[in-house]
Amino acid sequence: MQLNSLGFPRIGRRRELKFALEQYWRGELPQQELQDIAKALRHTHWQWQADAGVERLPVGDFAYYDQVLTLAATLNAIPARHRDGDKVDLDTLFRVARGRAPSGTPAPAAEMTKYFNTNYHYIVPELTEGQRFSIAWEQYFDEVEEVKALGYDPKPCLLGPVSFLYLSKAYGSEFDKLTLLPALLETYTELLGRFAGQGVSWVQIEEPVLALDLDAPWLDALKQSFDALSALKIKLLLTSYYGSIAHHAELIAGLPVAGLHLDLVSAPEQLSVFLSRLGASQVLSLGVVNGRNVWAADLDVIAERLLPVARDLGERLWLATSCSLLHSPVDLALETSLAPELKRQLAFARQKLIELRSLKTLLTNPDSDEARAVVKECISRRAQRERAANPAVQARLAGLTASDYERDSAFPERQQQQQARLKLPLLPTTTIGSFPQTPAIRALRNRFRKGELTALEYDNQLKQVCRDTIERQLKLGIDVLVHGEAERNDMVEYFGEQLCGVGFTKNGWVQSYGSRCVKPPLIYGDVSRPQPMTLDWARYAQSLTDKPVKGMLTGPVTILHWSFAREDISRDTICKQIALAIRDEVADLERAGIAIIQIDEPAFREGLPLRKQDWQAYLDWAVDSFKLSAACVKDDTQIHTHMCYSEFNDTIGAIAAMDADVITIETSRSAMELLNAFEEFDYPAEIGPGVYDIHSPNTPEVEAMVALMERAARRIAIRQLWVNPDCGLKTRTWDEVEPALRNMVAATRELRRRL
Ligand code: GLN
Ligand code: ZN
Repeated sequence: MQLNSLGFPRIGRRRELKFALEQYWRGELPQQELQDIAKALRHTHWQWQADAGVERLPVGDFAYYDQVLTLAATLNAIPARHRDGDKVDLDTLFRVARGRAPSGTPAPAAEMTKYFNTNYHYIVPELTEGQRFSIAWEQYFDEVEEVKALGYDPKPCLLGPVSFLYLSKAYGSEFDKLTLLPALLETYTELLGRFAGQGVSWVQIEEPVLALDLDAPWLDALKQSFDALSALKIKLLLTSYYGSIAHHAELIAGLPVAGLHLDLVSAPEQLSVFLSRLGASQVLSLGVVNGRNVWAADLDVIAERLLPVARDLGERLWLATSCSLLHSPVDLALETSLAPELKRQLAFARQKLIELRSLKTLLTNPDSDEARAVVKECISRRAQRERAANPAVQARLAGLTASDYERDSAFPERQQQQQARLKLPLLPTTTIGSFPQTPAIRALRNRFRKGELTALEYDNQLKQVCRDTIERQLKLGIDVLVHGEAERNDMVEYFGEQLCGVGFTKNGWVQSYGSRCVKPPLIYGDVSRPQPMTLDWARYAQSLTDKPVKGMLTGPVTILHWSFAREDISRDTICKQIALAIRDEVADLERAGIAIIQIDEPAFREGLPLRKQDWQAYLDWAVDSFKLSAACVKDDTQIHTHMCYSEFNDTIGAIAAMDADVITIETSRSAMELLNAFEEFDYPAEIGPGVYDIHSPNTPEVEAMVALMERAARRIAIRQLWVNPDCGLKTRTWDEVEPALRNMVAATRELRRRL
């Protein structure tokens, strides 16, 4: 019974790769030293995996920027604008990913987007019509040799040809990407041939698209590609993850592969489907330890479930993590100041490999002392979890009734009352919440964290920042103000730190893209709000002006998605617990006289399941959670929400069902096209379509914003429209923000004059 590692985080347990990359990009580290650091990290990670008992060590999980980009470079699928003659070198990769590198001519970076339903962003390969492929980058082969030199057996891990095409974009002209499949298969064949020549026996071919709904041409492409690749003398492990692939079971059962990997964490029910279809010599790799969460596994429960399978399959059963450990923090051992009760509930990448080994012991040697100790620990960990429950939170949730989710009146009535209270002009202007997080503000936070400032000093300095932010907005003539969020490091962490049932690590970093890592909060218990979180700031800011200042909160769906959530209760329940905590804050803000409260939900769409058939169930609880967080207010309190994306065609019904009074969205880059969904749906409430792109440092022109709003007004009634930027302004400087907002206000005045 082998242990199968689908891939290990490359960033380093102290984010060594991140720091080396950034130094290299700044020109402070020679390329050779970057490569040496990378190599040392690979060796460490391989050694850890080997020590845990993993038989074949993954190759191809290491990347200088992104593993999809490494594959594209290997296949010579590099955009023409990033090339520097014929050769592909390390800086070519960085030019594709970042638009620039220490050498070569800068050119706009390729797009980046989320990898399936994870928070990892990959670089979207650009493929042109008639594109040709060839092997142009030697990294995989070099790393295979590195593993061999260490005395181990390498297992290359590659995105398969169909997923590669699926994730790429047709560039230059519209064409059917599948026309590139034959050429692509030739190069994949060459690639596998070279691996075979290096003595590689198994290759992990990842086809995560299998978890999606696929139409016939893509299914045919899968068949065609495995037929082609199986012609080689190398064993293929068809690898899926993030969801069930049972809906393609017939196709998959007929593929000529030596093994199949299933993600049983996201879709345990698919096991029986494939057990009955497994070929007599096929290997089944079962992903039973969650590769994308941080909780220690209930190994005793898993072992019990797997025991009959292990008896049946014997050697042909491999034990694995559900997906690559890329999405998991690296090493729990570094968490020296975590509460022991919480630490005991956790397993990071290194610990997950140990879990696999323990699981093997439970299955192969259940009477050993080691097995007994593992079971005992699992039982006692569960008991501890149960003891930590908060009955008050659970009772409150159980006692909710339908009316707790609903505002008193329908939107038209609320709109009248809000207008009577707020007396806003036509096309009210506002911003999304944050203002520049200047070096001075960051320094303040750092000094406070290090204890160099007392809480009082810190507070006073931040108050000054807040006052300055309010004054600037007043001078600009903005109608609905914000306090600026200077006290927040991050929109989820800030709330997480103040909620019961949520914990934080010191080094629980996970790669988000390139050298960027995030450190999600851990939702380990029942969530509640022990005391107000934002009330003082809202009160203070409102005390400085007669204009309305928005109370600013992060919504429950976003807090959930951007955290590591517990697995012993449903996401629906966790989300509603968070919603109740936010609801308490909303009630406090209203009581303090705050007339407008914004509840941000930028991650709302991210939570959508991979398959359409599962969307409604998610949307139901996500919408309900939002409503629960907001519905306690009176009719004349205005609820805003913000989502920083603009694809609403397929979810507009749910967006409307959230019943916010105002929604602000990103639209400037799509020239308001995206309001079509709202128009067609006859969206009833108010909308602030962003009029300029905050990602750009350029000052938006008055006329451009006037034109955008005129377009918007053709789709949406003018009384329903607000004027605001696309998103928060914290990454910009005041020198950029002030002229931009001045123009935004000027554009609004011009529009009001014209109408
Ligand atoms: N209120 C937040 C801000 O302005 C919203 C950020 C976001 O949408 N991601 O920064
Ligand atoms: Zn946003």
